[in-house]
Amino acid sequence: MTDGARAATRTGSPPREAETHCPYCALQCGMVLRNTDDGRIEVQPRQFPTNRGGLCQKGWTAAELLDHPDRLTTPLVRDPSGELRPASWNDALDRITDGLRTIHRTHGRDAVAVFGGGGLTNEKAYALGKFARVALRTRHIDYNGRWCMSSAAAAGLRAFGVDRGLPFPLTDLGRTETLLLVGANPAETMPPLMRHVADQQARGGRLIVVDPRLTATARQADLHLQPLPGTDLAVANALLHIALTEGLIDREYVAARTEGFDAVRRTVAGYWPAEVERLSGVPVADLEATARLLGTAGSAVILTARGAEQHAKGVDTVSAYVNLALALGLPGRPHSGYGCLTGQGNGQGGREHGQKADQLPGYRKIDDPAARAHVAGVWGVDPAELPGPGVPAYQLLDSLGTPDGPRALLVFGSNPVVSAPRAARVESRLRGLDLLVVADFLRSETAELADVVLPVAQWAEEDGTMTNLEGRVLRRRALREPPPGVRTDLAVLADLADRLDDTAAAPFPAVPLTAGPTRTDPTGSDPAEASAVSPGPATARDRFPTDPRVVFAELRRASAGGVADYAGVTWDRIEASDGVFWPCPDPDGPDTPRLFADAFPTPTGRARFHPVHHRPAAEEVCADYPLHFTTGRVLAQYQSGAQTRRVAALRRAAPHGFVELHPDLAARLGVAEGDEVRVASRRGELRAPARLSPTIRPDTVFAPFHWPGAARANSVTNDAVDPVSGMPEFKICAVRVERA
Ligand code: SF4
Repeated sequence: MTDGARAATRTGSPPREAETHCPYCALQCGMVLRNTDDGRIEVQPRQFPTNRGGLCQKGWTAAELLDHPDRLTTPLVRDPSGELRPASWNDALDRITDGLRTIHRTHGRDAVAVFGGGGLTNEKAYALGKFARVALRTRHIDYNGRWCMSSAAAAGLRAFGVDRGLPFPLTDLGRTETLLLVGANPAETMPPLMRHVADQQARGGRLIVVDPRLTATARQADLHLQPLPGTDLAVANALLHIALTEGLIDREYVAARTEGFDAVRRTVAGYWPAEVERLSGVPVADLEATARLLGTAGSAVILTARGAEQHAKGVDTVSAYVNLALALGLPGRPHSGYGCLTGQGNGQGGREHGQKADQLPGYRKIDDPAARAHVAGVWGVDPAELPGPGVPAYQLLDSLGTPDGPRALLVFGSNPVVSAPRAARVESRLRGLDLLVVADFLRSETAELADVVLPVAQWAEEDGTMTNLEGRVLRRRALREPPPGVRTDLAVLADLADRLDDTAAAPFPAVPLTAGPTRTDPTGSDPAEASAVSPGPATARDRFPTDPRVVFAELRRASAGGVADYAGVTWDRIEASDGVFWPCPDPDGPDTPRLFADAFPTPTGRARFHPVHHRPAAEEVCADYPLHFTTGRVLAQYQSGAQTRRVAALRRAAPHGFVELHPDLAARLGVAEGDEVRVASRRGELRAPARLSPTIRPDTVFAPFHWPGAARANSVTNDAVDPVSGMPEFKICAVRVERA
């Protein structure tokens, strides 16, 4: 942050410019926002370790939404005729609290659910989790990050004892000798990351990409493996099989730093390369070349992303690549290791501080008595009053409005009508609710179904922190105040908690804020942080501060001693450097850019192998549905598209959905370029123009998932979920394609 901007923020006057980060993906590119003399807000990239002065088109155009004509600046309440009409904040909040009170009385606490998002700041994610558990006292909270990195998170936890997307700084990619990307397409999803890959290749490093499509990233690779969707796990086991037979295993590392290898060795013995070639379509020669490039390199990195993870066997698929990395002795070595490319802007922080159904702040387990006691102490409640674990995102959404499911849902920062699997079913579940509340700054497709829509601030209008794909905590800085009529999410939570408290729905016990065990209290010189540790009145409004700096100070105490320990992270410290890597338990101690150098945070200090087997997709092709369907992203759109579809330049670059298919398949179906095609699965169909490309397998069709309506890819996707992570199988199902 420039000195001028920092000074301006602290004196309360609007800063002329703010050094901040892009609002979209987990790369969190550094940018400067500037108020121009002609009243515009200008975006300029800035040097930051992740983007090194680059931005993609989405970042360049991000400010366009701040004053967009579609911007919501007044609450909307559905009237008896079924129309959403402008309302006062009082009326909107009354409608919500009256509805919640009735549902609580009639159906109990768990009849109200909360759904968050991986784009919310750490402060909001933390406050939302606390709001659900303390103000609503419901066990039902989860978030759309469940559909992003949850499989990699679960695999990382069971192998390493910790889930941090990248356990090393992104700059390590530029120095590794061999880089294996599995189901990752950063050239389209986070283009500035490719600067690190370009560095790596310029130094003579080798890039290998595993992807069913010849993506923009795969085009830059030295070797492209193009497996049938759903066979990544078998490919990994074959690579380990080859590494074993060719003596590429780091036996010393395996003996000293891991456990459970024998079971994995026995498992992969059956993955003969020729068999895996038959299963996956990847030639034996390519499997062998990949294993040798990884196994003989002085350093190597294996990264997975959604292509490998968004499967009903996503956790096991990631485990197979973690097994490979461990057998080669990579994690904890210089410029080496396994990592996951997190997708959403705060996908990492969003899953650390209590939005997930089974977690409390600091990546604590909600069913761990010690974790409950610690967090309850910080929150000033009896641990026995904290609800237990809820259910994963899809299970939660699929239960809405059913006899045993929640009757009300509060949505913050998410658009499940477009982004959920089997989206038509989710849409009908939302329509069946007694009360749907959406806090957003635009009328998303989910907001269109709501009973109450609350207009909230955008990224350039509030301060906070985000945690990027490296586990680096960053400062988001406000350039201006929210427009009149708009409140921050933190203010909305405080308003709701206050009203619920007034109605005696959730009276707070008079426990001082300092109650409960904490390992470290904030020691920052900032008075806002100091106030967060002073005993205060036990009113609901005091329990839900609206100043993000105060919320962050409380988050630090709640996370202290947890896996994701932020106790030593202060805003001042973030501003004095290029962010702070967790874990950072001590304000005066070091942070942790690189994990696993000496030990893994498991009970034995060793990483754990997990034997995993290939299994078919939840839905196989058949005579009626003979083609594989897979989904993904395009460069100019982001997630459900509610924001980026409204940006003129992005709309011009990617105006509508499409269905990509191989020319041979198109010829067989009688489809020409631009023809509208219908893609039908057992769950629904999508219609979009055909885009012919020889870069996709002839047995597979692809559609991006950014569009609603007829082109909604998630009308087709399968809602089968991974049994461990709850990740839906977005990446493969069986479809029929025909000219519409
Ligand atoms: S969308 Fe991602 S890659 Fe693009 S500018 Fe924003 S943070 Fe950077």
